[in-house]
Amino acid sequence: MILLLFGPPGCGKGTQAAHLAERFQIPVISTGEIFRAECKAGTELGRKSCGIMSGGGLVDDGIVNGMVAARIARPDCAGGFLLDGYPRTVPQAEQFAAMLRERGLPGPTVIHLDVAEEALVARLTARRQCPKCLRIYNTLWQPPRQTGRCDDDGEPLITREDDQEAVIRQRLAAYRELTGPVLGWYGDAAVRTVDGALPPEEVTRAIENAVLQTAAR
Ligand code: AMP
Repeated sequence: MILLLFGPPGCGKGTQAAHLAERFQIPVISTGEIFRAECKAGTELGRKSCGIMSGGGLVDDGIVNGMVAARIARPDCAGGFLLDGYPRTVPQAEQFAAMLRERGLPGPTVIHLDVAEEALVARLTARRQCPKCLRIYNTLWQPPRQTGRCDDDGEPLITREDDQEAVIRQRLAAYRELTGPVLGWYGDAAVRTVDGALPPEEVTRAIENAVLQTAAR
């Protein structure tokens, strides 16, 4: 099972990806998390991507495609995988289709989480992350037990640089301009749109139903 989870920054992709990974026993590949980890580790890939990420832009297609090709070739992806944050441009979608063909893999199930833009800005500016275990909180509806501290390890929570409002607007614009056409590339018949403004458990149920219906086709 190959799942692609689409949706603008802040639509709840990360939370839903974790549920789906558990439910279908497949690894989640989040290109954003990979870049953040590389940045933190100060690798060559990190040096190339850090500045682009903090400015809200997209990392070069060639870099991302190479990274994903290497990742899906690893043994834990043999039974399928879920991609969160990729493909983000039409050239990435084309390259990804070629990767799947080369490996003799079936086409992906494409899920689109749809949420209005202003709701996303409100959500994202309230997002906090533990820099140590990467757990995500939201000061509006998923606050930590102690204000500003991670429930799991007590680390002071941070606002990610790319969650500042100006950067968020830039990321939403990048999503609209570049990723909207990716959904168009897959086509209405292939894309299962789910209302991402519903409570998280209902979104999970709607996605699971969409995945199972697609698998049964
Ligand atoms: P995310 O956590 O998915 O919002 O990703 C954070 C940042 O990583 C994005 O704003 C981009 O700078 C970079 N990034 C993640 N995935 C991709 C991708 N598929 N193509 C280009 N840049 C990406």
